[in-house]
Amino acid sequence: MASLIDIHTHNQTVENDVLKIVNIALNDPKDLPKLDYVGWRSVGLHPWYLNEETVEEDFENLLKESENQKVMMIGECGLDRNIPVDFNFQKEVFIRQIQLAESLQKPVIIHCVRAFPEVIALKKHLKPTVPMIIHGFNNHPQICQQLLDNQFYISLGAALSKSTSNATKVIPMIPKEKLFLETDDKNCTISSIFALASTYLDVRIEILKELIKHNFNRVFSNQDLTA
Ligand SMILES: [Zn+2]
Repeated sequence: MASLIDIHTHNQTVENDVLKIVNIALNDPKDLPKLDYVGWRSVGLHPWYLNEETVEEDFENLLKESENQKVMMIGECGLDRNIPVDFNFQKEVFIRQIQLAESLQKPVIIHCVRAFPEVIALKKHLKPTVPMIIHGFNNHPQICQQLLDNQFYISLGAALSKSTSNATKVIPMIPKEKLFLETDDKNCTISSIFALASTYLDVRIEILKELIKHNFNRVFSNQDLTA
C-alpha cells in the first residue's frame, strides 16, 4: 500500500507512493471524461452543478456509476450557502446521496460552506452508519468541535500552508483517528500537506503516514482494496 493517502483530489495524475481518491462530479459535464480514470474515485452530485431539470437523470447516472468497484465514497456532495441554487433543493439531493451511501455501505465525502448546523442536523436525523468526512475544512474551532462531537471525520488541505488559517488552529484538536489530508483542486502535492501537518502536530512524518493509513483502513474496511 502507498504511504501517502490523498483522501480527496481532483487531480488524476498517477504519483509514485500516493493512494488518491479522485473526485468525479457526475453533474458537471467537464468532469465526465474522468470516468475513464482507472483508479479509486468518489462519485456524486456536487451542489454547485445541481439543476432541477436534470437531477433525475443525474441521479440515475449516479446510481449506475456508484456500483463500480472503484467507487470508494459517495460525494463530494453537501450544502453550500454561497451559491444561488435553492437551499431546500440542495438538502433534498444531499439526503438522497446520504441514503445511497448508506445502502451501498460507502462513506460520504462532504462539501460544506456556511451550512455546518444543517449538515450536523441531517446526520443526527438520518443516523447513517457509514463514515462522513468533511473535506477541506477551514473553519472555526467551535464548529470543528461540534463536528467531532457528532463523529465526523475531518480532512484538511492547502489551508495548512497559511499559518494564520483556521485549519492550522484546529489541527491539534482533531483526534488522530478522525483526521485525513487532501490536495482537493489545489496546485500542491500531498507530500507537502503531510509535511505541514506533521509540523503542526509535532509528530514525525512517518508516524503521521501510519496514522492516516490506519484511518483509511478502518473507514474502508468493508471494501476490497485489492480490486
Ligand atoms: Zn473538491
